[in-house]
Amino acid sequence: MAIREIRLEGDPCLKKVCREVEKFDERLHVLLDDMKDTLIKSQGVGLAAPQVGILKRVFVIDTPDGGMVEFVNPTIVSMEGSYIDVEGCLSLPGKAGNVERPVKTTVKAFDRNGKEFEYTGEDLYSKCICHENDHLDGILYAEKVIEWLDLEED
Ligand code: ZN
Repeated sequence: MAIREIRLEGDPCLKKVCREVEKFDERLHVLLDDMKDTLIKSQGVGLAAPQVGILKRVFVIDTPDGGMVEFVNPTIVSMEGSYIDVEGCLSLPGKAGNVERPVKTTVKAFDRNGKEFEYTGEDLYSKCICHENDHLDGILYAEKVIEWLDLEED
């Protein structure tokens, strides 16, 4: 268990297309445990591996129904509807902007032991899946912002 350093906007890791996980081994488990610790510490909803400098197709989301869910080699299989809501990112602290995302997103992924599962997120968790999945392709939500919010600086 360890807290990893979160990479900030401008770090080249955030612009890379990540590689598929091939080995569901101890190294992956340590990464997932560290990512969960880091996410809890930073009070975020989701965290993708490139945000901690690891270019693998992995993200974790703190879900309302299943606690912390680990997604390895995720593939979005369906998206429904669309809505616009405010979004932020641990890699872009102090910023927030409105982004259009599906209302409902279903993703197929593998757990830490290589077992396939399907997860459907709605509203906040739908946009979170899309946001984290974008990270795996080097895409930041900043590229999709329709309108930035004015946050007070202090
Ligand atoms: Zn993010």
